[in-house]
Amino acid sequence: MAETPSSQHLTRAFEDSEQELKNNLPPWSEADFKQRLLTVFLYIAIYLPVVVLLGLVIGGYIIYLIFYIYPLVGDTDDRPELYYWHSDSEKTNAETRGWIFFTLVTWCIFWILVSHYRALKTDPGQIPREREWDIPDDENDESSSESVVLIEKRKDGSIRTCARCTMRKPDRTHHCKQCERCNLKMDHHCNWVANCVGYFNYKYFFLIVFYGAVALAIFISTFWETVVVVLNDSESSAALCFFVVLCYSLILMLGIAVIGFCIFHIRLMIQNYTTIEYCEKKKQKVQEYKVSPFDKGAWNNLKEALGKNWYWWLVPFNYRDPDEKGLHFGRK
Ligand SMILES: [Zn+2]
Ligand SMILES: [Zn+2]
Repeated sequence: MAETPSSQHLTRAFEDSEQELKNNLPPWSEADFKQRLLTVFLYIAIYLPVVVLLGLVIGGYIIYLIFYIYPLVGDTDDRPELYYWHSDSEKTNAETRGWIFFTLVTWCIFWILVSHYRALKTDPGQIPREREWDIPDDENDESSSESVVLIEKRKDGSIRTCARCTMRKPDRTHHCKQCERCNLKMDHHCNWVANCVGYFNYKYFFLIVFYGAVALAIFISTFWETVVVVLNDSESSAALCFFVVLCYSLILMLGIAVIGFCIFHIRLMIQNYTTIEYCEKKKQKVQEYKVSPFDKGAWNNLKEALGKNWYWWLVPFNYRDPDEKGLHFGRK
């Protein structure tokens, strides 16, 4: 059966990369109904995880404020006794405690949102269109590779090239199918930020995970008080009891996952692996990756991942210097 061009588009939606699809679709004004439908689906597919993530962060924050912070700092003379769970001295310190946790959690949420925006908007880095990275016409032609010293080679010892981008690949560069391009020091494609995580935005991605882990740890270690209060209060409705227990259970599961993920990334940074290298080389027991070929010692590895100046590590600014191009990664 002959396919119309637009039904071909729909079929290809499941095979092609998002970027290819975007490139193949006509502008909105010229598109027919099916093409417009596909465009809408495409954008939903790309940005739904982003919206879900923002919803979780903001929703969780609002729930924390209403059910934990407000009863502590609000002017409620009939606060349940259980809010002063720990000791008598804490009874008088309830308000202070409330403001401290409010400040800490707000601080984390603020940086999650800023880091998320930065991770989404920052180009992870692409291979420059320079002679240095062109594929030489002749394998013996060394003229264009004089200044290139590459550690990563193909199994047969030849240089790594990308057939799709027709470029020579710098070390740690990988081609992302979803972005339909090569990304420098590619870590992975992250649907939560609708972008690849690579050389120029890895820190922003890590800070989302880091501040997420801290915020969730605070939530888990404090919100149980709300659960105890609500369950012990005879005036609590069944719906309220169900709601706070459900919130706490979900946050607990999410917290364990995010904290584990954060520890995993700290380990990767210290040992100087990207997620791709760890999964495709280290875990597959490739001999050269038993220790990362780019390992420079823990401190220098952290500086390579998070930026030269350690005092900027925990804020999503001042990341890469202009002289840092993400093309060369020396050894120790
Ligand atoms: Zn490529
Ligand atoms: Zn990608």
